[in-house]
Amino acid sequence: HKTTHKVQLPLFEATPVDEIPRIAASLRNTFRTNKTKDIEYRLVQLRKLYWGLQDYTEHLLESLKQDLNKPAHDAHMTEVGWAIQDCMFVIQNLEKWAQDDTNVDIALSFAMLKPRIKKEPIGTVIIIGTYNFPVNLVVCPLIGAIAAGCPAVIKPSESAPATAMVLKELVEKYLDPTAYATVNGAVPETTALLNEKWDKIFYTGGERVAKIICKKAAETLTPVCLELGGRNPAFVSKHADLHLAARRLMWGKTLNAGQVCMSHNYVLVDRAVVDDFINQLNAINQEFFPNGAQASPDLARIVNHQHFDRMKKMLEGTRGKIVMGGETDRNDLFIAPTAVLVDSVNDIMIQEESFGPIWAILPYDNLDDAIKLVNGVDSTPLSLMAFGKKDENEKILHNITSGGASLNDSYMHGAVSTLPFGGVGTSGTGSYRGKASFDEFTHHRTVVETPTWMDKLLRVRYMPYQESDLKT
Ligand code: NAD
Repeated sequence: HKTTHKVQLPLFEATPVDEIPRIAASLRNTFRTNKTKDIEYRLVQLRKLYWGLQDYTEHLLESLKQDLNKPAHDAHMTEVGWAIQDCMFVIQNLEKWAQDDTNVDIALSFAMLKPRIKKEPIGTVIIIGTYNFPVNLVVCPLIGAIAAGCPAVIKPSESAPATAMVLKELVEKYLDPTAYATVNGAVPETTALLNEKWDKIFYTGGERVAKIICKKAAETLTPVCLELGGRNPAFVSKHADLHLAARRLMWGKTLNAGQVCMSHNYVLVDRAVVDDFINQLNAINQEFFPNGAQASPDLARIVNHQHFDRMKKMLEGTRGKIVMGGETDRNDLFIAPTAVLVDSVNDIMIQEESFGPIWAILPYDNLDDAIKLVNGVDSTPLSLMAFGKKDENEKILHNITSGGASLNDSYMHGAVSTLPFGGVGTSGTGSYRGKASFDEFTHHRTVVETPTWMDKLLRVRYMPYQESDLKT
């Protein structure tokens, strides 16, 4: 990949596996000292993280360029700038969120118990990330963990090794080392982490590994937050503005070369407008990439050869016809934004998650049948997109379950940094971002305080029971 060599990046180094139990024990000890519970401590750590991200922006832009050929524009907008903004938003709101909630819905007769919900840190946590947004996907949960008062270990993706090392340096330099740590590595290091006892495991990645994590978590009844993928559908009805739909869906598959968990895997298009829609897609492709996609400085690359080969296999295995793009170059890890017209939901292009710039177009004759097809695909989508009349969009929303949804847009719901973001069913459980990040790592602890003078009123609780009590 092209690099600008503005800053020197550390070489990738896995954390020695035998250090991992010590790291975990040290963080657990820190939690027991209660220091991470102090609100001022949390704010200081968040401010330090904020300045660390500012100071390390150049390093992160460089590492993202190296790992994914991510353009600086994307890296600012979706990673570093995003994390900085998220950090600031949490700093500004933390004191309000952390207060006891005394405005609880209870029957009047219990009001004297002074009920309150205390916001307690859930404990010591691990955050395991994946490679497509290697900064955002570990730093944003980390912001939530710090805000909630939880010591945390981050385990960035080894598939974005340069960024993993910059994050480690940043965390070690700016945050309290007794409460926050980075473990770098792949399966052996993550397995060693999972062998330790945690109070929450926050995992972003694929379904296969999520099952390994859940099995491990079940042994110790450790709660998990799972941010997974899915085979996300988009709908384009004959009433949609086809130019706008093509433009917005192309955005969804060109940002980060479509390596976005929320991007569409397949587009169901009313058969009456399929040709027009394909023409619009090709026109937008030309507009985005006047000199061809490979020559564009704006298009990221596929993260590695393994993922390149996986997508290439999908393009070779499809029974459909490429109607836009199709060019690939393994040496350059380049895959052009590619649309494949298929005639069956069983096509590999729909049955597998592309997690890249390739997707299927499946024509439909009737919206009800199209909805049935989507509900027959064996996964709960992380996102759902619908371009059509208001009643069509609402019908799609009403009949298909998904983590989040955008109407008349690609995954815009996931681009609003303060809205809760998460999946449902096979696309995950739990959510984060904005206040949801604080809540994800917070235990909502109900506390009542029974006045000592109240015992007369409470006499009904005590034995020997009296028949007359039931009448009151
Ligand atoms: P992955 O599950 O292979 O890797 C993610 C993390 O799991 C890495 O840190 C890796 O080191 C660790 N890991 C890998 N194998 C492991 C094992 N055997 N035991 C323990 N840990 C292990 O994920 P991936 O394939 O790199 O990521 C792509 C998937 O992530 C796609 O399905 C995509 O949709 C999903 N995703 C979801 C979100 C979201 O926020 N919902 C965001 C990005 C990506």
